[in-house]
Amino acid sequence: MNRLPGLAAGIKDKLIQQALERKLRQACAPGAQAPARPAEKKAEVPEEHYRFHLHPGYQQLRIINDGAKRLGVKNPFFTLHDGAAGSGTTIGGRAFINYASYNYLDMSGDPVVAEAAKAAIDRYGTSVSASRLVSGERPVHRELEMEIASLYGADDAITFVSGHATNVSTIGYLFGPRDLVLHDELIHNSVLQGIQLSGASRLPFPHNDWEALHAILNEQRHKFERVLIVLEGIYSMDGDYPDLPRFVDIKQRHRAFLMVDEAHSLGVMGARGYGIREHFGLDGKDVDIWMGTLSKTLAGCGGYIAGETALVEHLKFLAPGFLYSVGMPPSVAAASLAALLRMKQLPDRVATLQARGKYFLEQARAAGIDTGTSTGLAVVPAITGSSLKATRMSAALFQQGINVQPILYPAVPEKSARLRFFISCTHTEEQIRTTIQSLSSVKQA
Ligand code: PMP
Repeated sequence: MNRLPGLAAGIKDKLIQQALERKLRQACAPGAQAPARPAEKKAEVPEEHYRFHLHPGYQQLRIINDGAKRLGVKNPFFTLHDGAAGSGTTIGGRAFINYASYNYLDMSGDPVVAEAAKAAIDRYGTSVSASRLVSGERPVHRELEMEIASLYGADDAITFVSGHATNVSTIGYLFGPRDLVLHDELIHNSVLQGIQLSGASRLPFPHNDWEALHAILNEQRHKFERVLIVLEGIYSMDGDYPDLPRFVDIKQRHRAFLMVDEAHSLGVMGARGYGIREHFGLDGKDVDIWMGTLSKTLAGCGGYIAGETALVEHLKFLAPGFLYSVGMPPSVAAASLAALLRMKQLPDRVATLQARGKYFLEQARAAGIDTGTSTGLAVVPAITGSSLKATRMSAALFQQGINVQPILYPAVPEKSARLRFFISCTHTEEQIRTTIQSLSSVKQA
């Protein structure tokens, strides 16, 4: 703040001092008046602008909840589980077949994974208490990141404490108002939030439609500096996946960046569970930003970005969600590292997951259930066509000992409301048959 440019510091200080003394003398002189307070302007502020219970979002929530209560529909959210949840769970002391967890390879609850987390607590405590940049990291952070990088043949990787924050912070930081982000219309909310934060222009393209993307780029590419294309490895609402080689070709032709969110494809696609890259036999460098979460296959909590050094180093020093946020608790990093190493040692779990998903899909289709575009890779929807029907069917299945979550408007369009089944490698064929029978019976009811 240099208001007197050109003056030597000593002279400047003296002038300021003299001015302050003059002001003080005037203020203390007999008869000096107290400075007038600015007159209070009383604006008419409507109550909804300063009361939370009148917030439009909360009002809408109340209407939905009151309506559900009047219709006698049980609230399907915030179910209280008694223990670890995989293909089975216990709720209120009762055993359920469970399809509401992303515990794809049954690593959450795995004794080896749990032991690694406990050992990390004993050694490092329960928190690193501040950002890794300033307060340091533990060996387990870097070991996890190097293992993740090796999955993609990437130079390096960085882990964030939340998967959602990984997308928000990475996209929000790397892109700006002169840039364009193109994304599949079914992309996860965290990507949309990141784009909003970045200030970049945003254009969705129809689901998995690489030709539509190509057409948009033909028209739009020249208007922007950087262009990012964002896809998911497996779409979490539908259980289908993009034809990735086509998208790689398009991104190369238009000199754009390509980002793939592997939240639901890591551990699920490819013979070893290495994800969509392995499924298509692509080079890790074909995709610029590999993103994934630690909360599903990797039995922890957080997200990662893997890619070239210039990307990872940049994010490590400057992405706000990493720089200004605490490092991952060592126990969480240790759990995810152990889960990743175990996935590499136990490809049978991946094969079983793929087989059970395929079995579920075949059985459901044979029973006339609308499974949309699902490929049977870990996620299989049963489209009900209305939120009320989905909620009622979920409640009826719960009565029969099956826990499956309804997905309602506005998470999906009302006519696409559904039950969403997440398959785990420990679901048995018998459990799947029982489930499809129950699903058929509640569909008729
Ligand atoms: N990306 C996708 C595709 C997701 O489905 C999710 C959440 N399930 C996230 C990102 C956010 O990850 P997290 O829940 O680990 O914050």
